[in-house]
Amino acid sequence: MDRVGGKTLSVPASSQGGLAELGAAWLNDTNQFYMYALVRKFGFELEIQRHKGLNLFEDSKGKMHSIEYGKEYLNDEFYEDLAKQAELTHLVHPELSQHAMKHDKMSFAEYAQQFSSKAEIIADDIAKTLLGVQAKDISALYMFNYTKSGTGLDNILSDLRDGGQYMRNRHGNQNFSVRLANDLKPDTVHLSAPVTKIEQHG
Ligand SMILES: Cc1cc2nc3c(=O)[nH]c(=O)nc-3n(C[C@H](O)[C@H](O)[C@H](O)COP(=O)(O)OP(=O)(O)OC[C@H]3O[C@@H](n4cnc5c(N)ncnc54)[C@H](O)[C@@H]3O)c2cc1C
Repeated sequence: MDRVGGKTLSVPASSQGGLAELGAAWLNDTNQFYMYALVRKFGFELEIQRHKGLNLFEDSKGKMHSIEYGKEYLNDEFYEDLAKQAELTHLVHPELSQHAMKHDKMSFAEYAQQFSSKAEIIADDIAKTLLGVQAKDISALYMFNYTKSGTGLDNILSDLRDGGQYMRNRHGNQNFSVRLANDLKPDTVHLSAPVTKIEQHG
């Protein structure tokens, strides 16, 4: 699509106004401090994500599950191991982590299959929600490292303060890049013009 925004896409939710996020939806005002600085700069209003009551999930087989918020992955062996592997991974040099080669050759889906069929569904949910890809399309090592870079699995999936899903942007997250692009010199952004080579001098 010929637009500024990348993995953010904010579309009108109805004729009454409001926006629905088809890409990145959440942010927070604590450990995402660079994004929060842009929120302040552009005057965006944030809404705290509702996190009371029940969560409803439809799994890949079309079955609905209703689970109390925060109890989704309690005592789940796969979830606990994933959190542990993320802890163990080397943040800056994932290739130096223990079993790095093995974990990088294995997809995140294959890693989950070792636990249970429910784990496969959870892995796919996590990959789709966080990255917009299927668990079979990323390596286990990538997911471990991504989880660590997001300050751990509990935090990355949390709707609570400091969590990755704490707040939403009433102005639409696509507007971050649209506003940044507007601040560039005219004719800096070229749509439909793929970069094929980057040269660095000096
Ligand atoms: C469904 C979904 C939900 C998400 N939810 C969240 C969330 O709630 N919170 C959160 O923090 N993150 C979330 N993310 C992740 C977040 O969207 C990304 O981390 C973020 O958008 C990455 O920004 P970026 O500018 O680095 O890359 P991108 O957004 O991927 O932008 C890269 C841009 O470069 C362009 N490009 C690529 N190759 C070339 C080329 N050769 N020449 C020219 N242009 C090129 C692409 O078309 C794209 O426009 C989500 C992602 C998805 C898909």
